[in-house]
Amino acid sequence: MITPEKIIYLDNNATTRPDPAVIEEMLPFLTTYYGNPSSGYQFGRQVHEAIELARERVADLLGCMPSEIIFTSCGTESNNTALNAAMQMDPARRHIVTTAVEHSAIYKHCQHLLKRDCEVTVVGVDENGRLDLEELEDAIRPQTALLSAMWANNETGVLFPVEKIAALARAKRVLFHTDAVQAVGKVPINLSNSTINFLSLSGHKLHGPKGVGALYVNRRSTFQSMLFGGGQENDRRAGTENAASIVALGKAAELAAEAMKDEQSYVRAMRDRFEDKLLAEVPETSVNGDRETRLPNTTSLSFASIESEAALLMLDQQRLCCSAGSACHTGSLQGSHVLRAMNLGAGAVRGSLRFSFSRFNTETDVDQALEIVPRVISKLRAMSPRQMARAEPALLL
Ligand code: PLP
Repeated sequence: MITPEKIIYLDNNATTRPDPAVIEEMLPFLTTYYGNPSSGYQFGRQVHEAIELARERVADLLGCMPSEIIFTSCGTESNNTALNAAMQMDPARRHIVTTAVEHSAIYKHCQHLLKRDCEVTVVGVDENGRLDLEELEDAIRPQTALLSAMWANNETGVLFPVEKIAALARAKRVLFHTDAVQAVGKVPINLSNSTINFLSLSGHKLHGPKGVGALYVNRRSTFQSMLFGGGQENDRRAGTENAASIVALGKAAELAAEAMKDEQSYVRAMRDRFEDKLLAEVPETSVNGDRETRLPNTTSLSFASIESEAALLMLDQQRLCCSAGSACHTGSLQGSHVLRAMNLGAGAVRGSLRFSFSRFNTETDVDQALEIVPRVISKLRAMSPRQMARAEPALLL
């Protein structure tokens, strides 16, 4: 097995290392405190109390009330629940406005709704991954049920002006959902005076375990459950709670609040050093997305004349974990829908890599990655047909 000591893990937007303090707090709920939180006796009630503490901790991180938090199984479920709730609200409203760079947990649900008599307007972004708020506003119709726009993009880290979008939705009397799976724990969020109706988050993106998430539902918003059964989560999400993971998410949220300053300084400094050095040393390299308004931990870089899939294989051999901006789906190299929406051009889309940092990375990781990445890019370029054509034009004849 590959263990963390043997890798350089720069893929923290894919998932994060669970914080040891999170695991420590979680484990007793898998071993000793296994009571059902809905049971009336003390052995069950103590688990219920631990879940309520987790709810307070998540609420504290978001600046909202504990009663506004519903625990779910993941970010995907939170996103699906929000869309589902909005579409149940008023049968006359069958229109959704969303953006071209959303995660598949939003856009695939929208594609599904298209087959269910719904209309969807997808608003594009510019070459820096930014939204045009006027275009967004113009897309809203009287039949619009929901506007859904992510807080931070998982590929580029670009941040949308979510509070402005929420205000715009409120003015048009349309519900607003934000997929904040990549934003929570990385940028400060305060929902106390917000007009956001729904917000999704996921445990494994903030050093908690996989398979747990939460949906914030503003206390003034009406809500429809997606799962029916027991009365858990105040009748808003049936099913016996994943108590251990919820406890873990609570601890992860508490730690994320404490580590927010580190995220803004230590993590940002690592990302910037890595990015600046590569830009300076590797020719024909550029940053995808608005460099100013983005997550402190993410850099999406486009390297001319390489195929990111090949780069990933070579980086994996060097035990460096990162992601490609493109993905090969059923044999056709289409490339990332996010980078394509930014109109970056096929070469840039094919040659993009995403590196994402966390508080568990070290300066040594950065040093080693700065040794490996330029070497891999030069090797690939030396093998690329474009480079060969430049070096030896006769070969083309
Ligand atoms: N939304 C965004 C922006 C994400 O990056 C992800 C995961 O990569 C999800 C939603 C889905 O979260 P989960 O893996 O918890 O289902």
